[in-house]
Amino acid sequence: MLRIRNYINGHYHDPISDSWLENVNPATGEVYSLIARSNQQDVELAVTAATTAFPVWSAMSTKERSTILMNISEGIQRHFDDLALAESNDQGKPLWLSQMMDIPRAIDNIAFFATEILHTHTEAYQTGLGVMNYTTRQPLGVVGCISPWNLPLYLFTWKIAPALAAGNTVVAKPSELTPMTAFLLGQICTDAGLPPGVLNIVHGLGAECGAAIVAHPDIKAISFTGGTVTGKSIASVAAPMFKKLSLELGGKNPTIVFDDVDIASVVKSVARAAFTNQGEICLCGSRIFIQRSIYETFRDALVAETERFLVGDPLESETRLGALVNEAHMHKVLAYIELAREEGGRVISGGQRVTLSGRCSGGFFVQPTLIEGLDAACRVNQEEIFGPVATIIPFDSDEEVVALANSTSYGLAASVWTTNINRAHGTAHKLESGIVWVNTWLNRDLRTPFGGVKHSGVGREGGTEALRFFTEFKNICLQF
Ligand code: NAD
Repeated sequence: MLRIRNYINGHYHDPISDSWLENVNPATGEVYSLIARSNQQDVELAVTAATTAFPVWSAMSTKERSTILMNISEGIQRHFDDLALAESNDQGKPLWLSQMMDIPRAIDNIAFFATEILHTHTEAYQTGLGVMNYTTRQPLGVVGCISPWNLPLYLFTWKIAPALAAGNTVVAKPSELTPMTAFLLGQICTDAGLPPGVLNIVHGLGAECGAAIVAHPDIKAISFTGGTVTGKSIASVAAPMFKKLSLELGGKNPTIVFDDVDIASVVKSVARAAFTNQGEICLCGSRIFIQRSIYETFRDALVAETERFLVGDPLESETRLGALVNEAHMHKVLAYIELAREEGGRVISGGQRVTLSGRCSGGFFVQPTLIEGLDAACRVNQEEIFGPVATIIPFDSDEEVVALANSTSYGLAASVWTTNINRAHGTAHKLESGIVWVNTWLNRDLRTPFGGVKHSGVGREGGTEALRFFTEFKNICLQF
């Protein structure tokens, strides 16, 4: 059986303990590979390799680093089909989605930061006659990047690309639920000419391997994407060590539909925002607020649209929703649907596990589910479910919907659907959210700052913000 081994110092290694975890294909329920169960000793090896590689990598010209990173981006392109299939098998998402979204975005992430470093600048200030201040940016050293399972290579590369581009060396850990594409990336990096030790990829459990990265005294910064509870625990270890911290955490995102929209077209976008990737995107709109005058019409159209979403084998092209990432997560999602019933909600579409025949008979599938009749303050409307479950809630006024939308502890993303420009801007400004989309969803420009407010995170990724995070500014003041 294939073994997903650590990539340290430019070579693949078994974990020192020789312990392995089982890797399950969520669409079939079958174990199809084994994952290195790394511990503190493996992390130590990775940190040593990264520390040794740092002086050479950080001293390279930006042009040299850019060229190597572009080689990696092109290497991902060359292995496009293998990576897209690997992502679908590991995560459960439809193959067409990993071909359309995940792997193209991984290519773009690396190319974006490879070229961005060619265009950055630092500041200089003339303070008075004969006094000049200027600023340098230096890489931090060895940094830790920890990523989740929902968009595996997409989010892994979103972190390592700016870290490497800025001249840092990296110890990175993908999720133990979806390690395959990060494993394959190691060889692509070697083939691209990345010097040994610049990127080290260790696999294993969060509480063991991830925690060892966070606590390592020689790792200067932690860039983490994952759940809010994990983020809190990471902050409690890293903050007292004065590490730089970037935390991209959970969401419970509102979708706000005003009564002036074209229902037929908006309903398609709202369903897509709720259920893309089985609802397993931190940016999915899981609380859908509909203005009361169009509530029934919009609800019925949304139910009809949702019922068109075929749940099926991720490798079939007509499949709209694939498998949830693992059995435990499927049960968590089903438990929330049950809780919704206990809290007084009515399931108006879906609500059940789906059992497929043939190859996928052991897979973890759930119908796209719509629930109405719940209070905005109930647990189902407050807690992140991270599955194909959305609630719909009527509202009357602009003020009311802003208050409802802001009534959770999260603040990652929101979408607002209206043809009224004053409403669009007015609502967008009042929402407590790191990103607001108006009449669109998941429309990303890599130059924009990305991140959440409240319990959705601390700091911003993307564009210049990511390079700022992965560098330390120094002010040099000179009198002449
Ligand atoms: P998770 O927090 O369970 O795990 C994320 C990563 O952290 C994994 O690699 C895991 O092994 C590691 N980890 C777990 N415990 C750790 C510890 N104590 N120390 C160090 N590392 C540890 O999250 P998940 O279930 O993989 O992902 C789903 C969550 O991620 C959802 O809450 C989702 O909203 C969030 N997410 C956020 C964004 C964003 O950009 N804000 C993007 C995608 C996903």
